[in-house]
Amino acid sequence: MSKTLILDIETAPVLANVWRLFKENVGLNQIRGDWHLLSFSAKWLGTKKRDVMYYDQSAEADIEDDAGLLLLLWQLLDEADFVVAHNGRKFDLKKINARFIVHGFPPPSPYTIIDTLEIAKGHFAFTSNRLAYLTDTLCTTKKSAHAQFPGFELWKECLAGNPKAWKEMRDYNIDDVLSLEELYLLLRPWDTKHPSVTVVADDERMACPKCGSHHIIQKGYRHTIVGMYPRFQCQGCFGWSRGRTMANTKDVRKNLLIPS
Ligand SMILES: [Zn+2]
Repeated sequence: MSKTLILDIETAPVLANVWRLFKENVGLNQIRGDWHLLSFSAKWLGTKKRDVMYYDQSAEADIEDDAGLLLLLWQLLDEADFVVAHNGRKFDLKKINARFIVHGFPPPSPYTIIDTLEIAKGHFAFTSNRLAYLTDTLCTTKKSAHAQFPGFELWKECLAGNPKAWKEMRDYNIDDVLSLEELYLLLRPWDTKHPSVTVVADDERMACPKCGSHHIIQKGYRHTIVGMYPRFQCQGCFGWSRGRTMANTKDVRKNLLIPS
């Protein structure tokens, strides 16, 4: 059985001394404090809502020292076969890697990134591809709007050690992961580039490559440039897949020409 981790991180901003409010190019020597990890929330796909994990820097003596948080994250990533994150390929997982290497961690065992932003961009034309917009439009668990600390206030107050702000960060981060899981499950059947979860399962029985369900039925054939393949629809997630063995007879295969 493959393991899929749903993940969302929050980072602290870069702190800098600046001369003015706009049209400012901040030089590296103007930086007072570099960014670091502030919190993360994660959940194994298919587990109960109450099993959602959340860790943050609120109890750390030095808020900038995120080594403990990273160790927890490293262990989860090392266990994961797949990691679902919104803009995860360009943001979350690269940010995490940057902090890993700064702290001298070796890379965790390889995992495959499933990026819900890429699926949304690739298959739909939504007004916005931001997580807040997508979950608001499609999901029952919404990305919570910051209640008491709007926008940047939340980050500022967390850095200042305000426990109410940390409570809100926790709620916000957890809601993000719960709504991200819901969004992923909605997008999954549409994702034509989804990695195969059944390759990891290494099970002889036929199963849906997107969700692993054995409840699949054959429905017609998928025609590609090289031939005809049996086509399947999953009755669990309603995603489509196709067999790898051509259904054409040997003679048809021999005489089939490919445009060039
Ligand atoms: Zn399926």
